[in-house]
Amino acid sequence: MDKNQLFNLAKELGADLVGGCDLKYSPIAELPNLHYAVSIGLKLSDTVLKTIDKAPTFVYFQHYRTANSVLDSIAFKLSSFIEAQGFSALPVAASQSLGSSNPYNGLLPHKTAAILSGLGFVGKSGLFISSEYGSRVRLASVLTDYPITFEGKLIENGCGDCTICRDSCPAGAIYGTKPTTDGERNFDPEKCSRYMKDHFQAIGRGSVCGICIKNCPKNNLK
Ligand code: SF4
Ligand code: SF4
Repeated sequence: MDKNQLFNLAKELGADLVGGCDLKYSPIAELPNLHYAVSIGLKLSDTVLKTIDKAPTFVYFQHYRTANSVLDSIAFKLSSFIEAQGFSALPVAASQSLGSSNPYNGLLPHKTAAILSGLGFVGKSGLFISSEYGSRVRLASVLTDYPITFEGKLIENGCGDCTICRDSCPAGAIYGTKPTTDGERNFDPEKCSRYMKDHFQAIGRGSVCGICIKNCPKNNLK
């Protein structure tokens, strides 16, 4: 198998973005060889995002769930393909949580795999910003022992002086600073989640918002 075969399959299955990288660690202690990741992304609909103003909409909630489901299906099929070539592969769902003890984190931050695959950067919003599609993407990943590396240059934060996401977040959860590598947070997931649960309960029980995704100028919404 060569990595282009894998990337082409991901595209055939419907992925808009695909890349791969060596994470240099496995998120699963029992499976230390799974330190490579395939990153896949799906672009969200401009038309659907335009329905969001000061609150999410039902069409956005449904679209978000469908995007997760399509990504999970692609990750599932890519994993089967990799295993059929004699390697190990584990799909990581688009929307993940490690449970009540660690509700804001999943097995692997998909944006880490996407950044290390050269697909984009993390914005001041804490969102992954794709070079091609801005913030209007959902991501999923496949962990594998198939050696796949990214040799190109990583993409630097391109937010510049923009603070639109910070200014438009109704929860005050975005600090408006660039992410740092020393672990300092530029986004408060707890505030974001609490605001959604308190204000958008009628739509997906407060599980989506989308205001910062919709407003990022990197989207160039059509
Ligand atoms: S999803 Fe909504 S509440 Fe959460 S950070 Fe974005 S704009 Fe703020
Ligand atoms: S809205 Fe502006 S500051 Fe926020 S992520 Fe997008 S480009 Fe960066």
